Order: sequence, then structure tokens, then C-alpha cells
Amino acid sequence: MNPFDLKGKTALVTGGNGGIGLGMAQGLAQAGAKLAIAGRDKAKNAQAARSLDAIALEADLKDEKACRALVDEAARRLGRLDILINNAGMNVRKQPQEFTLDEWKLVMDTNLTSAFVASQTAYAHMKKAGGGKIVNIGSMMSIFGASFTTAYAASKGGIVQMTRAMATAWARDNIQVNAVLPGWIDTALTRGAREQVKGLHESVLRRTPSGRWGEPADLSGIAVFLSSKASDFVTGTAIPVDGGYSVQG
Ligand code: NDP
Repeated sequence: MNPFDLKGKTALVTGGNGGIGLGMAQGLAQAGAKLAIAGRDKAKNAQAARSLDAIALEADLKDEKACRALVDEAARRLGRLDILINNAGMNVRKQPQEFTLDEWKLVMDTNLTSAFVASQTAYAHMKKAGGGKIVNIGSMMSIFGASFTTAYAASKGGIVQMTRAMATAWARDNIQVNAVLPGWIDTALTRGAREQVKGLHESVLRRTPSGRWGEPADLSGIAVFLSSKASDFVTGTAIPVDGGYSVQG
């Protein structure tokens, strides 16, 4: 038996229409999972869903009701929900003293609260089915700080602590909850960061032992591992996938 096989399993990937989410969704699809992906952009959703043979669902995840409805709809359309990847996220890059409260809330609601609400909704489906896998996407900002990431770092630090707490709460329900901490990956999000933060591209290259930026496909293997039987005794972890960025002294 292949412990990484996902045939017969179903997965919802939030933010699965591009970037890291699409990279992870591609890994799950290759391992045999039946997929639903979610995002706000209809055209991006449709294109990604075609390429993955997935169900595309539109939702703004910072809206609690829409987030709950999305998870229920994915479970209904897929027939069950075995895997939830909480990946949707965004950033507002400002010095802490410049943030408005609305900007703070936008980042926290999108990155952290949506993952809480989606997980809470998925729990009922997973418990009924006898188990499940939840994978939350953190960041290097779950570990480090940077002057322009106050809300983002708070949300991504929160992702790790939420992961640990949910992992302990739901282990007896056979639900494993883990976090992935991507390093610097070339996506729309970090193309924006490189436009805004002078010298970022080069400083990431200098500090990353692997000597390159990551690609979304670099996240597909960890997504399969944490979604499969191979990780049944792994829970509450936060695994960097960063080309060594977080261990560079
Ligand atoms: P992208 O901007 O390429 O993708 C973000 C995804 O999230 C899109 O699919 C977007 O879909 C979706 N999304 C954003 N806001 C919402 C919302 N309110 N409701 C529903 N969907 C939403 O960025 P990345 O692929 O880089 O980021 C994916 C995750 O990885 C994020 O959580 C990010 O913080 C994290 N990350 C990224 C790193 C990197 O270097 N790229 C490093 C560490 C972490 P749509 O626009 O259609 O709504």
C-alpha cells in the first residue's frame, strides 16, 4: 500500500486558484484526491478548476457566513470532506504606526479568522466520517518579524498556535492538524512585496541556503504528506518549506 495515495479522498483548498494553493492542489490531484478549490476571482477559479478537474467555488472567506457555507457546499458537492487546506491569505505592508484598524482586521480576518471558521465547520464533517486532515498555511512571519508585517505576522503566528490547540483538541477524533511555513515563494503575493520592498529579491536570495526563490510546486509534496496516511501520527507541527531560510545562522 502506498501511504501517500489519496485515491478516494476529497479535499478543499482555499485560495487554490493560484500561487501556493494551486501548487498544493496539483500535488493532491496527482496523488488521486478529488478536489474543490475556492477563491473570489471567477476567471482564476475557472481556469484552475479546468486544469485540476476540480470543483470551483466562489467565496470571500473573510465573511463568516460565506466561509461556513463554502465548507458545507464543498462537502456536499464532493460527497464528504477528508482534507481542508487553509491557504487563502493576503498582506497589507505598512509600518505598525500607519495601520488603520480596518487594515489590521482585513489581514486578521482573511488569514486567521477564516482558517478558524473553516476548520470549525470542517470538524463536523470530519468527525462524522471518522477522521480528517487540516493543513494551515503559516509563513516565515510565523517565526520572524519584519517592519512591514505587523498584522500579517500576528495572523501567521496565530495560525501556528491555533494549529497546536486544534491538534490537541481533535487528536482523539483522528483529525490531524498541522501547519506549513513556506519560505519565500514566487507568487502574485511576493511579486507585490518585491515591488514595495526595495532589495527584497536579492536579500532573500542571499539568505536562502538553497540559493533560489521557491516555486508553488515546492509545496506540493508537503501537502500530500500532511493530507495522507503517511502523516497519521504527525499532528500540531509547523513545518518550514523554505530552502533552509529559517535555519540560516
Ligand atoms: P497569492 O496572492 O498568489 O494567492 C492568494 C490566494 O488566496 C488566491 O487564490 C486568492 O484568491 C485567495 N484569497 C485571498 N483573499 C481571499 C478571500 N478574502 N477570500 C477567498 N480567497 C482569498 O499568494 P500566495 O500563493 O503567495 O499565498 C498563499 C498563502 O501562502 C497565503 O496564506 C500566504 O500568506 C502564504 N504564504 C506565501 C508565501 C510566499 O512567499 N508567496 C510565504 C509564506 C506564506 P482570489 O484572489 O480569487 O480571492
